[in-house]
Amino acid sequence: MTKLDAALMPDVHGFFGEYGGSFVPPQLQTILDEITAEYLRIKEDPEFKKEMAYYMKQYVGRPSPIFFCERLTKKVGGAKIYLKREDLNHTGAHKINHCIGEAILAKKLGKTKIIAETGAGQHGVALATAAALIGLECEIHMGEVDIAKEHPNVVRMQILGAKVVPVTHGLKTLKEAVDSAFEAYLKDPVTQLYAIGSVVGPHPFPMMVRDFQSVIGTEARVQFQELTGKLPDNLVACVGGGSNALGLFTAFLNDESVNIYGVEPAGHGVEIPGKHAATLTKGTPGMIHGFKCYNLQDENGEPLPVHSVASGLDYPGVGPQHSYLHDIKRVNYTHIDDNDAIDAFFTLSRLEGIIPAIESAHAVAYAIKLAQKLPHEATILVNLSGRGDKDIDFVVENFGKKYGI
Ligand SMILES: *Cc1c(COP(=O)(O)O)cnc(C)c1O
Repeated sequence: MTKLDAALMPDVHGFFGEYGGSFVPPQLQTILDEITAEYLRIKEDPEFKKEMAYYMKQYVGRPSPIFFCERLTKKVGGAKIYLKREDLNHTGAHKINHCIGEAILAKKLGKTKIIAETGAGQHGVALATAAALIGLECEIHMGEVDIAKEHPNVVRMQILGAKVVPVTHGLKTLKEAVDSAFEAYLKDPVTQLYAIGSVVGPHPFPMMVRDFQSVIGTEARVQFQELTGKLPDNLVACVGGGSNALGLFTAFLNDESVNIYGVEPAGHGVEIPGKHAATLTKGTPGMIHGFKCYNLQDENGEPLPVHSVASGLDYPGVGPQHSYLHDIKRVNYTHIDDNDAIDAFFTLSRLEGIIPAIESAHAVAYAIKLAQKLPHEATILVNLSGRGDKDIDFVVENFGKKYGI
């Protein structure tokens, strides 16, 4: 088996090289084994494939288009920049792709409830949507600090029929929300399914979420060739846990001619510990939430505080498959700081009429830098993972003045 093969499919224990696996209590391992077996079975089931294809087309609105940014390209003055428009999906981001998959899987496993954590509320909203669609109860754990900050998403989840559980201990943000949701899940793993929000957590979640998201790249590979006659020369996506990035990258990993860039959040600067979330850039291998990956951690293996202007990128770990792709150098991991991301947020809005999520603006910012170094014949395909409606109040309040608002 080549190194690249090992980067594409985990082994039976869920390892991509030395990363991934499943480090959980034995009682939970039994349940995870059941989930793995059922997933591997239904994944090949024509009925399930048909059902997924139906919801992707008729509900999510797939395929999402690819758009050539003519004015942005002209302004930047280098390679041609294209966007894969995941922001146009129902609910406004890529997360709905795997949430529908997880909800259908839960139903097939005979579960009645899906449970998860959320930080800014994006995963919570996508999961509450999928639960309403498929007919499951939904419980979302969220830190009290985030509940206060992200009021519209809290209300959205409640309108969709989900129960939002406030988490009141510790820093009252994402990490505590994960702990709390996990605890609630362990109380009854038989009737509930923990629906993870990215390509992280114990096996089989990194593989499963990656598979559900890979529809992005499968579509893009065909669409881009239709549009230009060639494969893209470069791919760019932001990396929090890494699901939208693997969604785009997977279909191109075997194409040697395609350069691939994963963009991590540099926050206030990667040289300042606690003020960024550039895990692959600055982290070291370790354990978090039941799996092995690069981590931003202290000398005792405790997660360090993280910061990014994009709350969806604010995680001290990263997917195990990314960790391995980093080691074998198939993907180049790079970073963009808060200021450059906000600048790209306004640039894309004002040159193309597309307001990106701040997460996605990290990818746009890197594409702008890359394009400047490349000839006009070169092409860059950016995964625009989500739309920026959720961010507008925050951006205007904190950065509006600089941009004349
Ligand atoms: C959650 C989110 C991300 C980060 O998650 P990944 O798993 O790294 O893709 C990126 N963009 C948007 C719009 C999100 O909502």
